[in-house]
Amino acid sequence: MSNVDLKSNLSEVAARIENACRACDRSPEEITLVAVSKTKPNEAIEAVRKLGHIHFGENKVQELVPKMEHFSGDDKIIWHMIGGLQSNKIKYLTDEVDWIDSVPKLKALKEINKRAEQSGREINVLIQVNISDEDQKFGCEPEDLPALIEAGENMPFVRIRGLMGIASLEEDLEKVRPQFRKLRELLQQEKAKGYKRASLDHLSMGMTNDLEVAIEEGATMVRVGSAIFGSR
Ligand SMILES: *Cc1c(COP(=O)(O)O)cnc(C)c1O
Repeated sequence: MSNVDLKSNLSEVAARIENACRACDRSPEEITLVAVSKTKPNEAIEAVRKLGHIHFGENKVQELVPKMEHFSGDDKIIWHMIGGLQSNKIKYLTDEVDWIDSVPKLKALKEINKRAEQSGREINVLIQVNISDEDQKFGCEPEDLPALIEAGENMPFVRIRGLMGIASLEEDLEKVRPQFRKLRELLQQEKAKGYKRASLDHLSMGMTNDLEVAIEEGATMVRVGSAIFGSR
């Protein structure tokens, strides 16, 4: 851990984002970097936080909750739950989490709305869509997306901010491009319907290996772990 240079890692990632934006005529300001701190200690998060970074992501409720508690005095830090969601654990998140980026189905969305109401907070949500044709399914199927967003229109404690997707792991990055493109097209289709509550202003896609392709295809949020915190 100590031999990981978080400062230079973070600036390298920022430079990658800038270069990718420049290559496709976008502004780096359009991109939110979520630093994925899973398996890493609070000290590492603290160090990255001290560099001015505010968005952090974790993929397990049992790891995210104690980390949020540890940093609860920091009112600027923004926490994202990015991993597989079990509906029975959502109640542990809603007091402190700011974004839940991996909502796959109606049951989870309803539970977030219910628990967020009890916590007296509105929570930002991304619907996770299965964009890789892999057997292990994460996220809803594209055809189920409209009904989910529609349902969210009547949920005052969730705000659907957009979509999230995880591409398959490929050596040839051109194989992930159509997966990202599909997610952007889905967002555009849904956005065109003019929902009242759902703002659909975010597309979370791209990780350490494929963030450039994701940005070229329209990502507004990239989730980067190992390039910042070192390998796990
Ligand atoms: C771990 C994780 C990431 C970050 O992965 P890296 O390859 O380390 O950048 C992004 N998204 C999700 C959902 C993850 O679980």
